[in-house]
Amino acid sequence: MATGPHVAIIGGAAMGSSLACHLLMDPAFSGRVTVIEKDMTYVRSATALSAASIRQQFSTRVNIEASLYGVAFMRSLGEKLAVGAERPEIGLREGGYLYLTTQAGAQMLREANALQREAGADILLLDPQALRARFPWLAADDIALGSWGRSGEGWYDGWGLLQAYRKKARDRGAAYVSGAAAGFTMAGDRIAAVRLADGATIDADVVVNCAGASGGRRVAAFAGVDIPVYAKKRCVFSWTCPEPIENAPLLIDTSGVWFRPEGDGFIGGFSPDDGDMTDAGDDFEVNWPEWDEVVWPAVAARVPVFERARHGRAWAGHYDMNLFDHNAIVGPAPGVANFYLCNGFSGHGLQQSPAVGRGIAELLVHGRYVTLDLSDFSYDRLVRNAPLIERNVI
Ligand SMILES: Cc1cc2nc3c(=O)[nH]c(=O)nc-3n(C[C@H](O)[C@H](O)[C@H](O)COP(=O)(O)OP(=O)(O)OC[C@H]3O[C@@H](n4cnc5c(N)ncnc54)[C@H](O)[C@@H]3O)c2cc1C
Repeated sequence: MATGPHVAIIGGAAMGSSLACHLLMDPAFSGRVTVIEKDMTYVRSATALSAASIRQQFSTRVNIEASLYGVAFMRSLGEKLAVGAERPEIGLREGGYLYLTTQAGAQMLREANALQREAGADILLLDPQALRARFPWLAADDIALGSWGRSGEGWYDGWGLLQAYRKKARDRGAAYVSGAAAGFTMAGDRIAAVRLADGATIDADVVVNCAGASGGRRVAAFAGVDIPVYAKKRCVFSWTCPEPIENAPLLIDTSGVWFRPEGDGFIGGFSPDDGDMTDAGDDFEVNWPEWDEVVWPAVAARVPVFERARHGRAWAGHYDMNLFDHNAIVGPAPGVANFYLCNGFSGHGLQQSPAVGRGIAELLVHGRYVTLDLSDFSYDRLVRNAPLIERNVI
């Protein structure tokens, strides 16, 4: 019988399910957890549509540290999220990210590298000669410097990660309720209950907004809280190539186009310039011209054997973009005593789900961040107009 608080989590994808796990795995937590999810198929969640990669090559220290914990968590996922004798497996492959830059960006890359290494990330700077030696298939004539993650960076099965969180959370007693949160019943400055679209209500002592790109801004608004998080469409294209390329990392080209190995082929895409306050809404159509006009020309220029690439399927998903500074908004919501935000991951949330799930669980159970201090992500910076700019948003 639970004696502690009832925590209602709105949104049951990576963030919501990681939080449910971390709460219920903490021996000091004596409450219960309900996860409210509007679409149990998750087909449109960013979690399911993600490129499922992890890196420490950020320009913001808290992002670097969150991903260092993310990869440590993923390496030991089998033990951490075991259910009985079943050990989940997400096929983590530490192939590294490779950022390339011309002379113009070399100083910025060096500065970011110093910060990353200081935080404990295993990132090497490679001059053109070292780049050619390690990646002989690369056309690097215009490149002044590369930055490559020797360990700790790579890709994994994002869907498998979600399922592992969910299984563990359920095993520890989390209740998953199928329904869309449609409003709150307030009692003074507190949320007393979450109202669902079907008319049901769920009483709660604490409510956490993990509603992602599709619901985060709307759910915050139920309590009168404004967050500048908008859904931004990103397309991911797949291709195969008749010639293999050895030791391919996740490469970030000078054009902004990225690609990485996936199965026997590759996936890649780019981030269009879309900083305005429009929301992608229900638009999940693949923008096919992006392949012919942007992605293929860029990857073929960088890796000449990709001239012979054969493109395959593609998909579109939504980044949960925080237009204020492209970083997460995590922690207590302003003006509402029992409401927490877990939003705005701006395209790097899957890798942060272990650290953020653990961090919010610590806040709820211990009243403070115990392991990694995530207070740089707090809403407070929006009020102070003090952006925590992340320069490395892909
Ligand atoms: C194309 C693409 C590539 C990406 N690549 C990477 C990557 O390589 N690495 C990385 O770390 N991140 C990546 N991301 C970002 C990452 O996927 C997200 O930041 C992360 O999955 C966010 O998880 P979430 O649980 O917060 O949100 P989501 O996965 O979007 O889940 C939110 C959930 O809330 C539910 N919901 C919404 N409204 C309501 C409501 N009113 N009531 C109940 N439920 C509700 C939704 O149905 C959904 O299941 C990528 C994203 C995309 C789209």
